[in-house]
Amino acid sequence: NRQIRLAARPVGDVKAEDWEHVSAPAEAPGPGQFAGRTLVISLDPAMRGWLDDRPSYLPPVGLGDVMRAGSVIEVTASNHPDFRPGDHVVGAFGVQENVVSDGKGALKVDTSLAPASTYLGALGMPGMTAYFGLLDVGALKEGETVVVSGAAGAVGTMVGQIAKVKGCRVIGIAGGPEKCALLTDELGFDAAIDYRAGDVKRALREQTPDGIDVYFDNVGGDILDIALTRLAMNARVVVCGAISQYNNATPVKGPSNYMSLLVRRARMEGFVVFDYAKRYAQAAQEIAGWIGDGRLKVKEHVVKGTVDDFPETLQMLFRGENVGKLVLELA
Ligand code: NDP
Repeated sequence: NRQIRLAARPVGDVKAEDWEHVSAPAEAPGPGQFAGRTLVISLDPAMRGWLDDRPSYLPPVGLGDVMRAGSVIEVTASNHPDFRPGDHVVGAFGVQENVVSDGKGALKVDTSLAPASTYLGALGMPGMTAYFGLLDVGALKEGETVVVSGAAGAVGTMVGQIAKVKGCRVIGIAGGPEKCALLTDELGFDAAIDYRAGDVKRALREQTPDGIDVYFDNVGGDILDIALTRLAMNARVVVCGAISQYNNATPVKGPSNYMSLLVRRARMEGFVVFDYAKRYAQAAQEIAGWIGDGRLKVKEHVVKGTVDDFPETLQMLFRGENVGKLVLELA
């Protein structure tokens, strides 16, 4: 059983030496357990935070432990009443070829309705993040102006498209002309701003003449600070993530323009998607409906390889090399 384990706590960027590649014997399932083989592994920016030894919404991955990751597996043997060989199951099974599980937190998925990868993307954690972040935390209303950063990523592509379904004007911020073209030409965004190309502040001013009602922030740092200067009255700033800060060896760069929250009577609120677990099924059903009637397009970036490719694939997120949901599909 090939596994990727955490060898050292990274300082700044994650390095190859921070991981250990291990071949462990494959285990048989005990009473009440099932065994399975991994089909596809999710790559998430949050993984960077799980490597640090500091308090967060989940405990850090322990040194020497198999790296935590969401994945879809196929059950190969089972002593568990709810899981049969051949079932496809999504759960936090870690970066390894073979898994043994007691089924806690695991969910059977139907891969005849959508590919396994989609249960890690549009119908999985990023889809839920976009849905609840935008509609619950962002309290989005029809006709509002939405700006989303990290717009061409797993969460961002969903945020923008859900906002369009809800009848809003949507501006995406992303890196590079290809990503921006994707947003406007394929995904129905009203405008896209390439933050690597030039003056984001001016572009955002031009694109939001009436201000921003909901700013959905995936990146933090300078882009958050610029968005704060464009808030409309009673705006909502949804703190989903801050990927520009995750590899900092120095403290997070805070927004200096936060006083606009006062002037604009706005609020800024963070959330963790796991708190909405009881409502996932209902949200997934609604998202599946939008996919089914063509109002929402699923963007996935599938890297084919082995678990040994995990460390290099994870880095793609921090270099902006993925478009849509990044997954590692095992051969
Ligand atoms: P993405 O698919 O969006 O991948 C990350 C993207 O971030 C890259 O493609 C890149 O796009 C962009 N990026 C990387 N570095 C920088 C930088 N320095 N400045 C600006 N942009 C950068 O990942 P996800 O959709 O999975 O996650 C998006 C955000 O949502 C993350 O911050 C994540 O932590 C957060 N999240 C939060 C959850 C919650 O419960 N609160 C749950 C799930 C995700 P580009 O080429 O445009 O730079």
